Amino acid sequence: MNTVDRLTGDAGIEDRFLSDWSGLQVGRPARVFRPTSTEEVAAIVRQCHQEKRRITVQGGLTGVAGGAVPSEGDVVINLERMNRIEDIDTLEGIMQVQAGAVLQEVQEAALAQGWMFAIDLGARGSCQIGGNAATNAGGIRVVRYGPMRDSVLGVEAVLADGSIVSSLTRLVKNSTGIDPRHLLIGSEGTLGIITRLTLRLHPPLQDMAVAWVSTDHFDALPRLLHTLKRRLGEALCAYEFMSGPYIKLASRLTGQQPPVGADAAWHVLIEAASIAGHSMQEPLQDILAAALDSEEIQDSAVAANLAHQTSFWRLREAIPEILTHLKPAATLDLGLPWKETGAYIQEVERELQRRLPNAEHLFLGHLGDNNIHIISGPVDEDGLHAVDEIAYAALRGKGGTISAEHGVGRLKKDYLSVSRNPGEVMFMRRLKEALDPAGILNSGRIFD
Ligand SMILES: Cc1cc2nc3c(=O)[nH]c(=O)nc-3n(C[C@H](O)[C@H](O)[C@H](O)COP(=O)(O)OP(=O)(O)OC[C@H]3O[C@@H](n4cnc5c(N)ncnc54)[C@H](O)[C@@H]3O)c2cc1C
Repeated sequence: MNTVDRLTGDAGIEDRFLSDWSGLQVGRPARVFRPTSTEEVAAIVRQCHQEKRRITVQGGLTGVAGGAVPSEGDVVINLERMNRIEDIDTLEGIMQVQAGAVLQEVQEAALAQGWMFAIDLGARGSCQIGGNAATNAGGIRVVRYGPMRDSVLGVEAVLADGSIVSSLTRLVKNSTGIDPRHLLIGSEGTLGIITRLTLRLHPPLQDMAVAWVSTDHFDALPRLLHTLKRRLGEALCAYEFMSGPYIKLASRLTGQQPPVGADAAWHVLIEAASIAGHSMQEPLQDILAAALDSEEIQDSAVAANLAHQTSFWRLREAIPEILTHLKPAATLDLGLPWKETGAYIQEVERELQRRLPNAEHLFLGHLGDNNIHIISGPVDEDGLHAVDEIAYAALRGKGGTISAEHGVGRLKKDYLSVSRNPGEVMFMRRLKEALDPAGILNSGRIFD
């Protein structure tokens, strides 16, 4: 028996460790460890390094790119027991956490101390803060606060040889050379296992104004966003667009109707917070009234109370029900410049309907951060490939990305060249070779 197999503290190999939300399964791991401290992670990794055992890192397993899916015989290091909120500095608004803390628990702990953790996404109840950092997660408030990278001040990680890099700085500015945090964030567990983080908090959002807009013309959406950004500035927190077919299905599955424009081709959910005590309800109403007058949009509704706001968001957050209903479904998270987005969606939708006429093809996303999600399903294995080919072929040459927030994982690595040029891939490969020459950490993710 190898030393790794003699290490204690492991869990049985339950089916839940075999896959993430992508549904991909590759093999059965040999061992699953659920350490409780950085030192325990380091001890497991040191043994794996000596014995050249491959490691798969797992957070909350809500990823949709197959990054946390183990191969046959892997050692799985699952962070779910490293879930402590270690410290909150209520003066500066800084929190220190273990990487396995669930996002929602981080949000709630911050709010309990009068602060807010700004990253928010539909998987908040299960995804972990370490997984959010490893994928540089985005979510619904990126338009105001940026992606995960902008909310992390410092990280601690275990490298592929078991050494610990502790860079839990609390400083916003630190111009003393290369910052490990920026190499580890978004590296999808290929450069190190993130074990602890210091997070930047913000004052809580207050007095939200939430509106719904419907239109038949996609081109109106970036124009309206432009106006909102210029007029509301910092107050604009979310600008979530959804296609007509998405809304029809979400309404059917949740029993919730859109407030206006049930048959419109496009819908947008807008959220704006008050600034310095000034509500954005009226400014938002004024902007939408002007857009209606100029026939830029067809209809709009501003939520009158919290119940309305919740019902608007319920439709946007129907993704789990939609993915279950359309299973097996392709889920893509592309990024494109605003000016390219309308024509891109038209081209891709036409081709998807031609090649996969029996599947539903839904478009939605966070337009403010250039992010489009495509959900196509149900589709078989060939259909999944067809969706990738169609969507990624149309992306070439448009300055876009194959992943704006979910990561490359195992499922998108064949298309990496669509978003990264040879110099960028060479840079990533050299980093990987320098930090993990034996290729034991999350090998086969991002590139082979
Ligand atoms: C309903 C739903 C809605 C979603 N909405 C969004 C959204 O709006 N925005 C968005 O960005 N994503 C979204 N996602 C995708 C997913 O929630 C994010 O990618 C999330 O950041 C993954 O976190 P996780 O802890 O579940 O990671 P996992 O799925 O467990 O892992 C993801 C990747 O990170 C690596 N990893 C995990 N933990 C660590 C660690 N501690 N150290 C190093 N590597 C690690 C894994 O090896 C894997 O490569 C959504 C998913 C679902 C199911």
